[in-house]
Amino acid sequence: MTDRSRGAAPPLVGVLAVHGAVSEHVDAVRAVGGDPRRVGSVVELDAVQAVVIPGGESTTIRLAAGEDLLAALARRVRDGLPALGTCAGLIALADHIAGGEEPIVGGLDVTVERNGYGRQVASFEAPLEYAPGWDGDPEPDGVFIRAPRITHVGDGVDVVARCRGDIVAVRRGDIVGTAYHPELTGDRRLHAWIVGRARAYHPGTHA
Ligand code: GLN
Repeated sequence: MTDRSRGAAPPLVGVLAVHGAVSEHVDAVRAVGGDPRRVGSVVELDAVQAVVIPGGESTTIRLAAGEDLLAALARRVRDGLPALGTCAGLIALADHIAGGEEPIVGGLDVTVERNGYGRQVASFEAPLEYAPGWDGDPEPDGVFIRAPRITHVGDGVDVVARCRGDIVAVRRGDIVGTAYHPELTGDRRLHAWIVGRARAYHPGTHA
């Protein structure tokens, strides 16, 4: 038996690098065996096998990325590029933003309410409960910073984690979004997941 993945180059995992907590995600991807690449253009996006959209301010992500890169992201995510979005990154991946804002990238059939835990001193840490299959050690707290609240989850979207009963992380296929910031704690299971999906990813245009 041969293991064709043994000795293979680490998968290229893009981190959208137009705004927000970029370097923490770069470090987390590297820590679990991925080759992180900062993505600020369509050409850089074309080269990667998965993408992470960091937290920050979703309005700034929308403006800083610009229409061409957002359109390319939307197309690649729709075509199966594995994607992980945290906090503002979850907002970017949501199909519905409460209040009528246009989707930023989309792909996840959820509704999010921006700053849904309050607007002022609305940052907190609280224990996460992951769904079976997402076990890891240690069981970390979630760090929520002016986080979006997931107010509706569509058919075919699975719950990845809850916090105090609320759904705070979701998955549909190869897209995961979290309302909290795993890159700010020792919680590496979501980065391990995206690196694994990047390794398995083969664009449809390739034989
Ligand atoms: N409140 C921010 C927004 O609405 C998200 C905050 C974060 O990413 N930490 O875009």
